[in-house]
Amino acid sequence: MKAAVIHGPHDLRVEDVELGVMGPGDVTVRVRAGGICGSDLHYFHNGGFGAVRLREKMVLGHEVAGEVTAVGSEVTHVQPGDVVAVNPSLPCGHCRYCLAGAANHCLDMRFYGSAMRFPHVQGGFSEQLVCRGVQAIKADMPVQRAAFAEPLAVCLHAARQAGPLLGARVLVTGAGPIGALCAMAARHAGARDIVATDILDAPLAMMRKIGADAAFNTRDTPDALAPYATDKGVFDVVFECSGAAPALIGALAVARPGATIVQVGIGGDASLPLNIIVAKEITLRGTFRFHEEFQLAVDVLARGDIDVSPLLTEIVPLAEAQRAFALASDRANAMKVQLAF
Ligand code: ZN
Repeated sequence: MKAAVIHGPHDLRVEDVELGVMGPGDVTVRVRAGGICGSDLHYFHNGGFGAVRLREKMVLGHEVAGEVTAVGSEVTHVQPGDVVAVNPSLPCGHCRYCLAGAANHCLDMRFYGSAMRFPHVQGGFSEQLVCRGVQAIKADMPVQRAAFAEPLAVCLHAARQAGPLLGARVLVTGAGPIGALCAMAARHAGARDIVATDILDAPLAMMRKIGADAAFNTRDTPDALAPYATDKGVFDVVFECSGAAPALIGALAVARPGATIVQVGIGGDASLPLNIIVAKEITLRGTFRFHEEFQLAVDVLARGDIDVSPLLTEIVPLAEAQRAFALASDRANAMKVQLAF
């Protein structure tokens, strides 16, 4: 079967890989849709990010959905023909963090398409995959929508890190797919006012389309957020999705005293005005992947409470994976690009 395999920076190949062997607790999935994520793009362009580096070839992909074709003898919750969203996260279940209900910090995590451990955990951009039964989440919806479960789960977890959002004034910095899904998650949780920033117009237009109350290009208009700095700042919650230090520094100026800033985007090192964090009693929190939010994301998508369809830019056949990755890298023309298998 064919898969999208990264061998090194800009060396993405569609080639044959072996299907895993199915055990009694496993499910075989005919993959139908796979969303290209920022981390896939980091492997594609740079061979990794931070200390996480490709050391062998790896099948990319962790936003996948498809159709069950076979189940092991112990699997009862899905059957052949069911559409499933595949949870790419497989925590060990018995380390101190798993036992404490924080499985996203598992000491022995296996996460699809990740070079964090060696041998790398192969991803889901393949025509079929064998996963554990617990990873196959029944998703009664089109596969393209189901493939949004993973990035939405990331953003629902981020929203949980933010604390109560009912009636909140929210700033989202960085308007890519994760920024857009954070805005949607915030609205779903009751946010009153959502403002978005980016340095490109196209993603900002998308933010307006999906319901942001205002969206500003902070490259063209660096002082666009100045009105929001009144009375020490107005935003209760910030989702910093760009990973860019200037966005975080700008957010500190417009966050109200006691605000929570959730750092969603991954960036390098940053120099921050600590005096502002101290004087305004800002809570600066990270957010990392998700755990029970994956099932919640599937439920929210199934009910149609969050409509992700505007975010899907194009569905590209696996054979054109290189074009798909180039398109997904072009923020002026693409939001979410999915591969079709
Ligand atoms: Zn664990």
